[in-house]
Amino acid sequence: MSHQVQRPPYAVDGESGGAAAAQLSRGFGGPVYLPGDAGYERERQAPYSDIDPRPAVVAMASDHADVQTAITTAREHGLPFSVQGTGHGTHAACNGGILLKTSEMASVLVDPDRQVARVGAGAVWEQVIAAAEPFGLAPLAGSHQSVGVAGYTLGGGVGWLGRKYGFAADSVLSAEVAGADGRLLKASADEHPDLFWALRGGGGNFGVVTSLEFRLYPVGRVYAGVAYFAAERAAETLARYRDWTADAPDELSTSVLLTRLPRAPEVPAAVRGRRVLAIQVMYAGEEEQARRALAPLWQAAGPALSETFRSSSFGAADMGGTGPAQVNLLDTLPDPVIDALVAAAARPDSPVLTAEIRHWGGAMGRPGPDAGPVGHRTVRFATVLDGWVPEVDEALRPYAAGRSFLNFLHDPARAETAYAPGDHRRLREVKRAYDPDNFFHLNYNIPPAPPRAR
Ligand SMILES: Cc1cc2nc3c(=O)[nH]c(=O)nc-3n(C[C@H](O)[C@H](O)[C@H](O)COP(=O)(O)OP(=O)(O)OC[C@H]3O[C@@H](n4cnc5c(N)ncnc54)[C@H](O)[C@@H]3O)c2cc1C
Repeated sequence: MSHQVQRPPYAVDGESGGAAAAQLSRGFGGPVYLPGDAGYERERQAPYSDIDPRPAVVAMASDHADVQTAITTAREHGLPFSVQGTGHGTHAACNGGILLKTSEMASVLVDPDRQVARVGAGAVWEQVIAAAEPFGLAPLAGSHQSVGVAGYTLGGGVGWLGRKYGFAADSVLSAEVAGADGRLLKASADEHPDLFWALRGGGGNFGVVTSLEFRLYPVGRVYAGVAYFAAERAAETLARYRDWTADAPDELSTSVLLTRLPRAPEVPAAVRGRRVLAIQVMYAGEEEQARRALAPLWQAAGPALSETFRSSSFGAADMGGTGPAQVNLLDTLPDPVIDALVAAAARPDSPVLTAEIRHWGGAMGRPGPDAGPVGHRTVRFATVLDGWVPEVDEALRPYAAGRSFLNFLHDPARAETAYAPGDHRRLREVKRAYDPDNFFHLNYNIPPAPPRAR
């Protein structure tokens, strides 16, 4: 299933890096940082990855013209290029090249009548949530509001409203994109529809998105929080979870975590330092309905040791979740998988600190006819582990069939596993049309399809 990432023969040497930096410094609106600058050290990092990128230059774009300049400069000097909003999803180092940062392009405009937001490439979810909330609207943000809208949405985007409204990528209405030749294109259902399709799940492979327009949804109060239970009933609770989710309403998004909580003062005293089963919930509606729907699950889990549930606005709900890690997608939650997860979490020396089992389905499995390539939409569960245990891997293998979700991958070499084979082939064709020499390759790479025979 895996393929060799095609790396173009871009030269990487100090001289071309220096010349590119000098050229950028003359024609660039935003700051340009070189090794040794305080800004360089601050901006080059990728906070959720173990890579240590050493770009020749870090360029902070102030508008789409800067983005275009950075692309054409990298091309002119034969340098590697990569784009970064927050760095939360950066797993390929841009060594010796131009690292383009978009964090200063963070405009957010909300049109309450059309229920649409238009955001700059560097906006993070917190900013969109804050701008939409006064109108009773919410975006399809994920578990952490500091995540960037662009990287999250291009990679699919699964959030706490996903079962009700679908993947964030499915809500995109249009995008402005600086392509591999630096030209600015508009992608929508009517303009460059093949590019528009590919962008909605294909990641950062097709250009630098300079702005995105997407739907917002009327979301009033939500009932949300986490409840902690004794870990001893984990296996039977997960078995009940598997059956209970079959009839769970789309308003209800849940995940079960097998986790060890730190001995930290912010952790409730009843569960501090303990191994627990945690159930995270967001219900897009009223408390009473949520409690009724959750009752069978609570019966299986036993009395809660501690819980944080409350009604709040979507933005004030304090939801957690796992970032990029070991992800697998499943059509069901078979007993051998439950047993392996519970055993791995129970081992005192386990490399897995948290194993999350997340219920998918709902609107995520009902894409519109024009939906993008977000893959494996009909799965019911995702497992996300922050460590690797061979026994868990073995138990998952027959059921997971190697499928993954782009945003939760931490290994760029597995990008192909995020797509249905037909969609991956089509993505490669769109890549050949828009980026035939794989200029945008420092990402979860989709290599261009081979050139057409004459
Ligand atoms: C703490 C944490 C929680 C998370 N929770 C969720 C979650 O609930 N649901 C979910 O779906 N994902 C989640 N993720 C994964 C997250 O969506 C991805 O890591 C995503 O890539 C982050 O996007 P970013 O723009 O913040 O990161 P960046 O590192 O800035 O960008 C990641 C990649 O996105 C592409 N990219 C970014 N900006 C652009 C642009 N303007 N144009 C073209 N390509 C671009 C590039 O390929 C880049 O390498 C989480 C990640 C973390 C760290």
